[in-house]
Amino acid sequence: MTKYTIALMPGDGIGPELTQATLTVLTVIQTKFDIKLNMATADAGDMVFEQQGIALPADSLQTIKTSHACLKGPVGETAADVIIKLRQIFDLYANIRPLKAYPHAPATSPNIDMVFVRENTEDVYKGLEFTIGNDTTLCLRVITRKNCERIAKKAFETARLRNGKKKVTAIHKANVMRITDGMFKKICAETAQKYPDIQYTDMYVDSASMHLIRKPEDFDVLCTCNMFGDILSDEAAQLIGGLGMAPGANVGDDFALFEPIHGCAPDIAGKHIANPISMILSAKMMLDWLGERYNDTQCLQAANAIETAVVKTLASDQVVPDLGGKATTKTMAEAIAYAL
Ligand code: ATP
Repeated sequence: MTKYTIALMPGDGIGPELTQATLTVLTVIQTKFDIKLNMATADAGDMVFEQQGIALPADSLQTIKTSHACLKGPVGETAADVIIKLRQIFDLYANIRPLKAYPHAPATSPNIDMVFVRENTEDVYKGLEFTIGNDTTLCLRVITRKNCERIAKKAFETARLRNGKKKVTAIHKANVMRITDGMFKKICAETAQKYPDIQYTDMYVDSASMHLIRKPEDFDVLCTCNMFGDILSDEAAQLIGGLGMAPGANVGDDFALFEPIHGCAPDIAGKHIANPISMILSAKMMLDWLGERYNDTQCLQAANAIETAVVKTLASDQVVPDLGGKATTKTMAEAIAYAL
């Protein structure tokens, strides 16, 4: 039996509900695939801040450092002190956000199958904001050659490995941000030369936001800097049934953290109607990553099984109201576990 320690961060708002739902599925996975996931709680977020005066306590950080991977629910107002910090501390430079139209989910087109490969540690999210005098504020946009090269390579490798259209679209605003996005665009184009099997194109961010609505099935891999990828992936999630359908991975060379792409949804917290798929598919991505990193076929099979069970459940009436059913977060997760 393979054993992994997973740092588990339930988060705020709907986070604990989604975490419980995901654990229901992972319990079945462990028995069925003979995998042992030792869940080590690493609390962080708004509630922890209220209790301890710090959103990401040292002991939680230590738990994450000694784990194989981290599975995280969404965090509320303190997100910048938790997820943005974790991305920088662990150099999780690639944010992978797959968005796929599953049968029976309310997607705008059945052929949507794209993945955002978003730079995750710099851009205007670096946190370099200043005030000058009383009336002027500044925010620095940091774009480095190293991270452009890493994210472009990740995008092309992703396009090569996945069963998609073998296409990368780099998204930027290089006509206005000539130096920062100019370098990003240039490096994406240079990287494209090394991948003759992958079709390459680039698009201005405003045009991409329109094209996503008009013809989303055109996209395969979208390579972006930090902020554009954050915004466009939320937009694209709406095309496949909402943020509750959207999982994510924050990946570095040595560590990875998995979480839904959405926030903690305070408007529906405690109502038991949140769609658990975002976090259940994040756990699927975690098993895929563990499987590849540790050459573990059980994890890879388990990841596939989760996706199959999600597809099966979407075809049933055991789905939350967002997807047209009357199930709760908990009963939908139980249906996915049963489908396994
Ligand atoms: P953040 O800025 O922290 O990303 P946000 O302001 O984008 O957060 P979210 O918390 O992501 O807000 O929620 C946006 C909308 O999507 C809300 O109406 C919320 O209820 C809905 N939503 C988010 N996640 C889910 C989910 N898992 N299931 C159903 N609806 C969701």
